[in-house]
Amino acid sequence: MTETQRVLVIDDEKINLKIISDILRGDVDVTLAKSGSQGIRKAIELKPDLILLDVLMPDMDGFETMAILNRDVRTCAIPVIFITALDDARHEEKGLLLGASDYIQKPFNAEIIRARINLHLQLSQQRKMLERLANIDPLTSLANRRKYQERLFQEWDSALTSKSPLSLVVMDIDDFKQFNDHHGHAEGDKVLQQVARVISSQFQRSIDLVARYGGEEFVALLPNCNKEYAMEVVGSCAKAIENLQHTYHHNDKKYTVTISSGGVTYVPDSSGKVEDLFSAADKMLYLAKQKGKNCVLWTNNDLLTSL
Ligand SMILES: [Mg+2]
Repeated sequence: MTETQRVLVIDDEKINLKIISDILRGDVDVTLAKSGSQGIRKAIELKPDLILLDVLMPDMDGFETMAILNRDVRTCAIPVIFITALDDARHEEKGLLLGASDYIQKPFNAEIIRARINLHLQLSQQRKMLERLANIDPLTSLANRRKYQERLFQEWDSALTSKSPLSLVVMDIDDFKQFNDHHGHAEGDKVLQQVARVISSQFQRSIDLVARYGGEEFVALLPNCNKEYAMEVVGSCAKAIENLQHTYHHNDKKYTVTISSGGVTYVPDSSGKVEDLFSAADKMLYLAKQKGKNCVLWTNNDLLTSL
């Protein structure tokens, strides 16, 4: 992995900030904060890989700072190493109970600091890699169903708060079994990969999530997105997939690979259930298949509330 990792150092004494940043500079990106509150702001904004946190600071000490970082979902997973001059088992215990990963004692020893920080950065990198692998579909490299489910709950809650429209579309390759029967599963996998690339390239907003739901079925979750925009992008996906010109024969007739899509746009309210969003899109997909495939059908609040 070539990405430079970022370490946030929070210490009220300028000289300590300078010593630590001199030790670390060149190996990692160092960001400095001279108080707990400034450190918390920078942790939220920059999402560092590791935080070095001084225990003794005026106003808000290291323990208080750590407790606030722990309570915030945006910062609670960032490992924290306490910096302390105190050779005091009680402080060490308190820090560890709060979830500190390690301790560095003053006066600083450059080699020990480098070794400890490298160790924790490596652990953080491994943790992130495992997290990524757990959320990715290995065939298409899209997000997997688990990641989609996780984001669905988050986006539902946030749309509920902001009263903004949330769109969801389910896209399914038409008669894919017949393609596989004709060409074999290895070719089928290549088509799945190409379709995945097409779909993810059409949804260009960074907030959109495209995932492989399973088999030949894909979903796109589109926060703060109205029906018109969502339908337009889905239409472009369908056209681009048809233009790939993957053909197969079935009962002596030639077919081209196409997709059918079912979508829903809904402004969540407290009477709605998150599960109903997928059910509504899935129902539209079912109707699109009934209608003859290679088409898009969409619904809005009405269907969802009648489910
Ligand atoms: Mg201090």
